Amino acid sequence: MKAIVVTEHGGPEVLAGAEAATPTPGAGEVLVDVSAAGVNYIDVYHRTGLYPIEPPFTPGLEGAGTVAELGEGVTEYAVGDQVAWSQVPGSYASQVVAPVAALLPVPSDVPPTVAAAVLLQGLTAEYLSSSTHPVAAGDEVLIHAGAGGVGLLLTQLVKHRGGRVIATVSSEDKAELSKEAGADEVIGYEGFADRVRELTGGRGVDVVYDGVGKATFEGGLASLRPRGLMALFGQASGPVPPMDPQTLAKHGSLYLTRPIGAHYLGPKEFRRRADGLFSLISSGELSVRIGGEYDLDRARLAHEDLEARRTTGKLLLVP
Ligand code: NDP
Repeated sequence: MKAIVVTEHGGPEVLAGAEAATPTPGAGEVLVDVSAAGVNYIDVYHRTGLYPIEPPFTPGLEGAGTVAELGEGVTEYAVGDQVAWSQVPGSYASQVVAPVAALLPVPSDVPPTVAAAVLLQGLTAEYLSSSTHPVAAGDEVLIHAGAGGVGLLLTQLVKHRGGRVIATVSSEDKAELSKEAGADEVIGYEGFADRVRELTGGRGVDVVYDGVGKATFEGGLASLRPRGLMALFGQASGPVPPMDPQTLAKHGSLYLTRPIGAHYLGPKEFRRRADGLFSLISSGELSVRIGGEYDLDRARLAHEDLEARRTTGKLLLVP
């Protein structure tokens, strides 16, 4: 089988294609022929070593494909079933072994590329908008990187719950996409905190969803209403430096959370949230933008584009 293998942490150039032996599924596992693997910003953190994984490793957590072989005791799936996943390490490959608990059956009306594209960013958008801050009708929220993978999905889910979205983007093209996803106001990053004040009549937003991190964190705090919530869920621009808790008092007795999927996506929640996402896709209420498809052996280019902010929506690798 084909796989991308990282033998040392570093830039996109460490994403090298390799031939590997086809793995054998153990008890409770299946072998899947990957139809597409999702690219996520966390794959960059793994590649650089910001989130340490010891090399050599195959990056990627997400994808969709066809069950090719069953391990001992597997009764939930049959060979030929379409499945998707968001937490199976080694997904940048033509085949992957996955524990049954990490898999979801793909509904027949959801195309495989959409199934491969939506889970990781979609489940994140789902838990951020329904649990981290359960958005209520009339809530005003600020979403950074509004045309990104999480950004486009989160914008739609917040609108679905009756919220008002102010989104930041870095270009006109991205502004168009963010508006199409439902953002009420789309602004640039320069001076965004002042602009958010103007757009909320001086009050500030109820919640900031910040996946950009270092470059936007301070401005985000200054964009919140008193007792508002900063949901810092990523760091595309770099990690946020340590801060003095007194800063939260200064900006209005704010709340700060740093959510990760592990605490929102236990087995039952994973299934429930994914079912919700798939049914919104089936009913046409959630649209998934695939902004780029790359051959698996061009994973390097996909990472270069992602880090250079040239991408929108979801990137897929096709073996
Ligand atoms: P995106 O598709 O959103 O890509 C990142 C975007 O961030 C860029 O397109 C760019 O949009 C913006 N950006 C701003 N500054 C920079 C910078 N200096 N370098 C690169 N990009 C920058 O990626 P994802 O949707 O995959 O992820 C978004 C964030 O969400 C990431 O931080 C990721 O780690 C996080 N995340 C967190 C999860 C969790 O459970 N905690 C799960 C999934 C994702 P623009 O050009 O418009 O500024």
